[in-house]
Amino acid sequence: MQIEPASALLPAGTVLPPNETCEALARRLRAETEGEVLFDTGSRGRYATDASIYQIMPVGVLVPKTARDVALAIDIARDLKVPVLARGGGTSQCGQTTGAALVIDNSKHLRRVLDVDVQARTATVEPGLVLDHLNAQLKPHGLWYPVDVSTSAQATLGGMAGNNSCGSRSIAYGNMVHNVLGAQAWLSDGELVNFGPVAGLSGRAAAIADHVRKLAAQHSAEIAARWPKVMRRVAGYNLDIFYNQSEKPYTSDGSVNLAHLLIGSEGTLAVTRSLTLKLAELPRAKVLGIVNFPSFHAAMDAAQHIVKLGPTAVELVDRTMIELALANPAFRPTVETALIGKPAAILLVEFAGGDKAALLPQLRGLVELMGDLGLPGSVVQMPDDAPQKNLWEVRKAGLNIMMSLKGDGKPVSFIEDCAVPLAHLAEYTDALTEVFAKYGSRGTWYAHASVGTLHVRPILDMRTDGGAKMRAIAEEASALVRKYKGAFSGEHGDGLCRGEWIEWQFGPAINAAFRAIKQNLDPIGLFNPGKIIDPPKMDDAALLRFAPPQSPRPYKRIELKPVLDWSAWNVQADPVTEVTTAPGTGGDSTGGFAKAVEMCNNNGHCRKFDAGTMCPSYRVTRDEQHLTRGRANTLRLALSGQLGPDAFTSDAMHDTMDLCVGCKGCKRDCPTGVDMAKMKIEFLAHYKNRHGHTLKDRLIARLPDYAHAASRMPWLMNLRNRMPGAAWLGEKVLGLSAKRSLPAWRSDTFWRARDASLFSSRDAVLAAAQAGQKTAVLFVDTFNGTFESENALAAARVLHAAGYLLHTVEKAGGHHCCGRTYLASGMVDEARAKASALVDALAPLAEAGIAIVGLEPSCLLTLRDEALVMGLGDKAVSVSQQALLFEEFIAREVKASRFALALQPAGKPILLHGHCHQKAFGAVTPILDVLKLIPGAKPELIESSCCGMAGSFGYEASHYEVSMQMAEASLLPAVRRQPDAIVVADGTSCRHQIADGAQRAAVHVAVLLDRLLPARS
Ligand SMILES: Cc1cc2nc3c(=O)[nH]c(=O)nc-3n(C[C@H](O)[C@H](O)[C@H](O)COP(=O)(O)OP(=O)(O)OC[C@H]3O[C@@H](n4cnc5c(N)ncnc54)[C@H](O)[C@@H]3O)c2cc1C
Ligand code: SF4
Ligand code: SF4
Repeated sequence: MQIEPASALLPAGTVLPPNETCEALARRLRAETEGEVLFDTGSRGRYATDASIYQIMPVGVLVPKTARDVALAIDIARDLKVPVLARGGGTSQCGQTTGAALVIDNSKHLRRVLDVDVQARTATVEPGLVLDHLNAQLKPHGLWYPVDVSTSAQATLGGMAGNNSCGSRSIAYGNMVHNVLGAQAWLSDGELVNFGPVAGLSGRAAAIADHVRKLAAQHSAEIAARWPKVMRRVAGYNLDIFYNQSEKPYTSDGSVNLAHLLIGSEGTLAVTRSLTLKLAELPRAKVLGIVNFPSFHAAMDAAQHIVKLGPTAVELVDRTMIELALANPAFRPTVETALIGKPAAILLVEFAGGDKAALLPQLRGLVELMGDLGLPGSVVQMPDDAPQKNLWEVRKAGLNIMMSLKGDGKPVSFIEDCAVPLAHLAEYTDALTEVFAKYGSRGTWYAHASVGTLHVRPILDMRTDGGAKMRAIAEEASALVRKYKGAFSGEHGDGLCRGEWIEWQFGPAINAAFRAIKQNLDPIGLFNPGKIIDPPKMDDAALLRFAPPQSPRPYKRIELKPVLDWSAWNVQADPVTEVTTAPGTGGDSTGGFAKAVEMCNNNGHCRKFDAGTMCPSYRVTRDEQHLTRGRANTLRLALSGQLGPDAFTSDAMHDTMDLCVGCKGCKRDCPTGVDMAKMKIEFLAHYKNRHGHTLKDRLIARLPDYAHAASRMPWLMNLRNRMPGAAWLGEKVLGLSAKRSLPAWRSDTFWRARDASLFSSRDAVLAAAQAGQKTAVLFVDTFNGTFESENALAAARVLHAAGYLLHTVEKAGGHHCCGRTYLASGMVDEARAKASALVDALAPLAEAGIAIVGLEPSCLLTLRDEALVMGLGDKAVSVSQQALLFEEFIAREVKASRFALALQPAGKPILLHGHCHQKAFGAVTPILDVLKLIPGAKPELIESSCCGMAGSFGYEASHYEVSMQMAEASLLPAVRRQPDAIVVADGTSCRHQIADGAQRAAVHVAVLLDRLLPARS
């Protein structure tokens, strides 16, 4: 265990206890609890950050299995005088979830719904439960928990309570504090206390309530004078429970609930064991009006009038955000539905209720209001649900769209949730925009106009002068907030970023009352020290994740020569124009690799559980280590030398990268485009360079080299699958799981069995293309060509039947290969050689505009992805532009009216499983389109993530269990549910997994089309 030395220079909550204490803590936690005890440097590093700009190494991490583990951990930590920091999803933006403490991660195991009372509309939950998961369980009852934070798929109820979180619809439902009815929580002396309505309290809880009541009475004049009178105030402790100051009272009947004291206390007063929540009826109908404004000022000014119509949300999207969304092909069509001309800003105004017809007059009311305000014809009325949902998704992605900026300057969160009364919103935003300009930056505005909380992040480079500018901007912003009688901390909490502003906001007397509350509940300062009470300076360089040169631990990058081309990330961006410098000019000593890794801002979006693509290894393990964010953090720490020498090529790093299946889900889903699959290739190349390749690595990587020869003696090669004991031996010697069958060798490979009449020479195809005839190049990969030649033969027949003149590239003594198996084994030089030969062969055809059609998604898409970062030059670009999957090609040709086939009906339901790389490249819709060419077909897409096989991953004994868990997460049950269906899966390994796991033969779409060709009936 490597523990950093304690330093008296660092602020409270950032100084680590001595080594012996840390070791004793780990020892006792292991002996006395059932939880996972993580004290290695990598694990601590993965819990050193939240979604803020800060980083503090924790003492260690406990992932408790039971509530008893948490209670024991608090006792042990108290004995050893080690602070405790409770954690949920770690998505906080202000650093409140970082600290030199024992981190208790509730999110893995403590996530049960303990009780739902449908009549009373209440639910009691454990703190690690994610909001979306609660709402999924409530939906059948027509109920929901309406604090709809943007991070609803990651945020835990414990973390939401800790931060007093609030969502887009807070104008209708309030913040967390308005929606919590009770809490059971441990105090630092170990007592478990029930916090609830004050009238029913006894014992310790009653004593706490008395204490707080007296403090409130004592400071009533100060509270009246200094407390912000806005709903969105989350700073300090809720001393106003006895003396309401919120625009929306905390309880509907004016009573006092002591649980509300804990809400927003950021884990500094108590550790929550359970929460009782107030549920709401799920709105049965919603309508949306999108108001288009000619100026940003007009939008801000209108908000105060619009809220009088009683909307459930009024959300802003400004011009920059509109432009960014329009530039994103996924968002463009949706955004266009909301626009009238070229507005400077739009407001999304939602009305919700029981009946859509009853809501339409409200929408008309909005139209009338805008007419009265001098903006007739400015409202897009959106009564239908589907377009509304799409538009909300774009709005929710707002911050993430913004964060995708490359370079060292990043939009920084520190004043992004100041709340001001609506009447002053326009003046406030104008003035703050001027402040940004003064400091050479600019802000993009969006979010909760209804409650005067607009998100804005100026672009700053925290590695250089960002800290100083941050302070200067914060000082000026605070003056504005004071001028307009707003709240400096209005949504995301205090943490390290706004703690120092608490006294500024409330004055010394109320601050002293906050200290007295802390003293009463946590007199030994055990819980999350340095937050709310005794906070550090927001710009304390010792706390910054990317600390500047003058700080105690300046952020540096190690020297590293990358094997892939990362120069696109090696840039700087202008903070005002956001224009980036030329690739390779960013000054990164790792050639851009580290900067690509640093794109992860810890927002936690990868902690997803829905059946999308990202991140399958997290979905089955729920371990921070096996999450895109965990991997990116570990890489960042290693590449900046914070995990010790050679950490980048260490076995610990290997363990962290090991369960990444390279599905590229993150490349598509991560809002900032963290491409872990590519990073794994880079890592493996360096790791294997240091540790050497195993026999298994070589066997798998070199498959394309020996496939041709091996396929001549299938009887010998297939012995492993047939001979008793051979699979066992294979597991012992090679590490290939004995529980797996291996793909069967056969001599009738595509190259031997193909019908030569279906193919023409390169020159003939080039000439035909020039003459405007229909042409294509069929790129046959090792897997389809060797093990499932029927797929390649079927594809050729289908394309031929549709009138295409075909060519396929070959080389003497074998076939061309994209290099994928080498990449997966970290042999980048060999992969480059293979890909280079293929690109050379394909380039003349691609340059003539002929499509390169492939069957295996991971191989064909290598031409559109990795081949572009292997230094293969312009030829690779030409090839990538023509490289299409079989179904993409057909879908494109159908659209251009060049492809038509009279197919027979399939006669059975069709189920489709998309390969991960198909999903990552948006190539699933084309398969559905192609399947719909089959008369009467209604193909059904299985909502699945990675099948778990992922090339050779699932064949390896060390991965077998995880591989099957991934398959069982959704794919295999969906296949089993429809025993009669034709299962279409274009990935070789997906088909194998389906055969192994569900004993069903899935087919490539080419085979299905071929079977349905009329000539074969
Ligand atoms: C992209 C993005 C969008 C966001 N959008 C919103 C938004 O719309 N609205 C909003 O309000 N916030 C938003 N946030 C901030 C954040 O997501 C929310 O505050 C969220 O509720 C935090 O949940 P979490 O589980 O990640 O909490 P964590 O960060 O893990 O914890 C938050 C605080 O609660 C404390 N805590 C956690 N568990 C316990 C426990 N059992 N007992 C005591 N204390 C505990 C922690 O110590 C910490 O102080 C956003 C953040 C990001 C990155
Ligand atoms: S990897 Fe991407 S999605 Fe995950 S935390 Fe980092 S930026 Fe967010
Ligand atoms: S490539 Fe797939 S498994 Fe790897 S981190 Fe990204 S989403 Fe997770």
